[in-house]
Amino acid sequence: MTEKRDYYEVLGVARDADPDDIRKAYRQAALKHHPDRNPGDATAEAKFKEATEAYSVLSDAEKRSTYDRFGHAGLGSGGFDFSNAGMGDILSQFQDMFSDFFGGMGGFGFPGGGRRRAAPPRGQDVRVEATISLKDAIAGCKKEVCVRGAASCEQCNGSGAKPGTEPERCVGCNGTGQATTQRGFIMFSTTCPRCRGAGQTIKDPCAGCSGVGKVERQRKVLVTFPAGIDSEQRLRVPGQGMPGPSGSAAGDLYVDVTVEDDARFQREGYDLITRREISFPEAALGAELEIDLPDDSQVSVDVPAGTQPGTVLSLRGKGVPRLDQRGSGDLHVVVEVQVPRKLSKRARQLLNELESELTPTHEAASLG
Ligand SMILES: [Zn+2]
Ligand SMILES: [Zn+2]
Repeated sequence: MTEKRDYYEVLGVARDADPDDIRKAYRQAALKHHPDRNPGDATAEAKFKEATEAYSVLSDAEKRSTYDRFGHAGLGSGGFDFSNAGMGDILSQFQDMFSDFFGGMGGFGFPGGGRRRAAPPRGQDVRVEATISLKDAIAGCKKEVCVRGAASCEQCNGSGAKPGTEPERCVGCNGTGQATTQRGFIMFSTTCPRCRGAGQTIKDPCAGCSGVGKVERQRKVLVTFPAGIDSEQRLRVPGQGMPGPSGSAAGDLYVDVTVEDDARFQREGYDLITRREISFPEAALGAELEIDLPDDSQVSVDVPAGTQPGTVLSLRGKGVPRLDQRGSGDLHVVVEVQVPRKLSKRARQLLNELESELTPTHEAASLG
């Protein structure tokens, strides 16, 4: 076991530093060495523990004066050696101290952190599924989706108290929801047993929600589906999830989108593919076609003379609008040539004539 460093040295402050300097020094050290910022770094963890230990003593006037007079020995074996304590234990035991420090920043405010972070209270996020037609996906639309779950009680505005009365601040925890007990030198925080962490008690419960403040209800939320949305995409509607505990912010609603298949079109990203049969004369002579668009309007397409089966005619910008609003994809028309299955006598005769008409060219070609 290594010898313990001097607490003032750990925090890098003078022996006569005032509480404010100590606080600042600790905050700096805690931010620098916090495990959320240094994942898997044992040295940083050790430094974080060391600084936390030092701060827990130097920030307390009584403990500080004991330490000033008697050093580490003066603090006895009251649990002040943190070097072997688990990180989680330290973080949870000092949660109050940390939230006091970093409160208002929403937890520790570390990007990408999250372990043991005290997140600000907020309602749960909700996920629902919604199916829209290809037409609606292309044009964009607003549609109501049903969200089942707890909703804020309208009779009491979510307070849980009978209308006309107010919830009272819990006397067990003075409204904090946390009961603190001291064991040795360490403060333990537990959920207040009197109010179960709510911080308030209700004398006359609301009849509508039995004092819970929430009721199970089906809500309808109007969701905007932007033009160009596709299947397997997810929309976020802020604040339309579950209501937060005791009036805090609601969670978000996530809508998983499915775009229905449209028999007329195949979608490839922002492009649409449609198939169109034309007759052999149309392919040979050329034609003008009217092509249906997903919004049921039509667009005309020129089929040039001599068009071969499988030719793709592309119409720029007639596909799906891009979500970034930079134009639209294309509509590709795959031209298929119908070969008649049944022929009338006259049709047979005409085709035979056509065959003889076309044959010399055929022979000339094959003779080279
Ligand atoms: Zn309480
Ligand atoms: Zn109510």
